[in-house]
Amino acid sequence: MPLEYALQHRGLFPDPGPWKIPQTRAVILRDNLGIDALPRQRFNKTKRTPYVLNIMVVGESGLGKTTFMNTLFNTPLKEEILPKNPQATQTVEIVPVHYELVENGVTLNLTVVDTPGFGDQLNREHNLNPIVEYIDNQFEAYHTAERSSEFRRAIPDTRIHALLYFIPPTGHALKELDIKALQVLSTKVNVIPVIAKADTLTHEEKSAFKKTILRDIDFNNIRTFPTAYPDDRESVEELEKYIPFTVIGSDTFVEVEGKKVRGRLYRWGVVEVENEQHCDFIHLRELLMTHALHDLLETSHTVHYHNFRAQRLRSSGRPESILACDDSYEHRIERSKQNMAEDMIKKEEEMRQNFVLKVREKEASLREREEQLNQRRQQLMAELEEQRLALAAEEREFQELYNASRSTSVSKGSKIFGKKN
Ligand code: GDP
Repeated sequence: MPLEYALQHRGLFPDPGPWKIPQTRAVILRDNLGIDALPRQRFNKTKRTPYVLNIMVVGESGLGKTTFMNTLFNTPLKEEILPKNPQATQTVEIVPVHYELVENGVTLNLTVVDTPGFGDQLNREHNLNPIVEYIDNQFEAYHTAERSSEFRRAIPDTRIHALLYFIPPTGHALKELDIKALQVLSTKVNVIPVIAKADTLTHEEKSAFKKTILRDIDFNNIRTFPTAYPDDRESVEELEKYIPFTVIGSDTFVEVEGKKVRGRLYRWGVVEVENEQHCDFIHLRELLMTHALHDLLETSHTVHYHNFRAQRLRSSGRPESILACDDSYEHRIERSKQNMAEDMIKKEEEMRQNFVLKVREKEASLREREEQLNQRRQQLMAELEEQRLALAAEEREFQELYNASRSTSVSKGSKIFGKKN
């Protein structure tokens, strides 16, 4: 069967598998091609290329989602965009807002997708549909772009990388609506559960509530990030114990021991956002921005987007073995990307060490040279001193001779004068 015909009519024929990707052969290079400079090029390019992070926030109105996002990025990201009147909106609105954040030359293109209206209406089952539709539409857009050659180089990524699910601080078990929503959403995106307004709970209530939520999450097979996506992420493991993260949001600064900090002022005292005794805010920020940004992006692509794409291709009739082949190809690309990144880190370290070594060598040789010059200087000074002493001795000798000769000539002269007189 001609290949073109088969491709045109793919899905209409039985799976001819098993398909295999040809193995690669290792080649020994005779000359240096400059491949070893690639990690550096990649590093420079990565620094120039902006990071893209799309965060969706889901939860009932008034739980402090807007305030929290402002607090997280330490900047008034969002004012109240829509009038928050549950009666006024009959459906959930989807409001993506884009920001460009720059820190030390690295740009983060951040999109915060708010979902006002979720959980506010009586007909709660329909609440989820617009959210799921939005998530799927972004996958669809990426999929379309991926197949069109014109976009292939830089596909705009609007896929949701993290979904912060805000749980009201009731202290009770999860509501049916939340369980359903979490079950559906966690099959599509990285869901991070967050307990809102933690300042309204005591320490004991907080830890009891966390246990209840975790039990519900476990019992209902809800996959949360990063626990459900094991990898060799040692640093993230530390943070897993905070799930679900308790948070406090605040748009204002309060004074604590003479310092201005983000917090909320009450008659009985102050609650601080960035105090781990008060809530898990700093741990959540660490998870999102420091430890797991790459993991969020990678999991979104390799797990959630792959699932979506496989489903699409399956429904268009692509045989399973070709899907497996696609996956293995993607995995190989991902692995080689990862290897490259690791190589890059190693190369960086080597270069740093080489640099330090060179600097030390140069310092040592300069020190030696300085030592030699010092010795030479001392030697010259000694010679000079010797010459000075010799000269002084000569001068003294000369003076003595001069004095002696003068006194002889004076005595001779007086004799002469004596004769004349
Ligand atoms: P959203 O509708 O979920 O976006 O909620 P908002 O961010 O608009 O906040 C609703 C109200 O809750 C505002 O009056 C905030 O000041 C207040 N709020 C926000 N975060 C907290 C919090 O952590 N603790 C308390 N006690 N109130 C909060």
